[in-house]
Amino acid sequence: MGTALVTGAGRGIGRAIARRLAADGFSVVIAELDPDTARDAAKEVGGRAVRCDVTDEAAIDAMAGSLDDLQVLVNNAGIYPFGKLADISTDEFRRVLEVNVVAPLLLSRRLLPLLAASPSGGAVVNIASLAAKAATPGTGAYSPSKAALVSLTKLCALEFADSGVRFNAVAPGGVRTEGTAGVSADAEREARFNALVPLGRRALPDDIADVVSFFASPDSRYITGQVLYVDGGLSEATIPFLQAAQRGA
Ligand code: NDP
Repeated sequence: MGTALVTGAGRGIGRAIARRLAADGFSVVIAELDPDTARDAAKEVGGRAVRCDVTDEAAIDAMAGSLDDLQVLVNNAGIYPFGKLADISTDEFRRVLEVNVVAPLLLSRRLLPLLAASPSGGAVVNIASLAAKAATPGTGAYSPSKAALVSLTKLCALEFADSGVRFNAVAPGGVRTEGTAGVSADAEREARFNALVPLGRRALPDDIADVVSFFASPDSRYITGQVLYVDGGLSEATIPFLQAAQRGA
């Protein structure tokens, strides 16, 4: 097995992905903003920590230069500040696009030669969101950013197809992480949310990591440009939502 680089892997979904890819046999590189969580995650998975702000091209360059090989890139780092479009600053809107969309392009482009040279075929997995499909009021630039990331995934799959590198996206619904701890803290609200998820619960990071493992592996060798919603059925639940609303639930 070769090397897998996971961004934002100090905690949350990224850390679960790093753990799973390490269990799959990859040498894992944790690219993370926070050097403490990065070190901690690297220690847990037996990998290497690199401090890298994924919006900083010089930092990406330096990180790329430190790699001998790369089989898998997981663009997981993402931010989701809350706020209504009418209220958020232009700078904040741009910042979300920088982290959630521009950074995956910068990393994919810079690391493409290494991924393309991977003997088992390189793979890029972008972590999108249900918010790409269902515009989510009150989350600022988040929905537009994840919709753009889905589009970027498909475009990369086509424009870089001749490199042999595959590009796919995994789109979670609600996942219990450090980043969403505030949302899950109210037990009654959480129970109401869980009742509306067809599979009956918010996802755990491992539910997402297991699917990333598939897209990273040769089992998905003939799949590129696809988005898999890993959301317990939420994205297909419009009619149950309407029925619940009619019941007054
Ligand atoms: P968390 O906020 O728990 O963790 C995100 C990690 O990314 C943090 O370690 C953070 O570092 C790091 N990070 C943020 N900005 C940068 C940056 N510029 N450069 C490098 N690292 C950075 O997020 P989740 O685990 O909840 O989410 C992970 C991904 O999954 C995101 O892309 C998110 O949009 C997506 N997602 C999450 C869902 C959920 O319900 N949790 C649902 C759908 C999609 P630091 O701690 O130092 O800020």
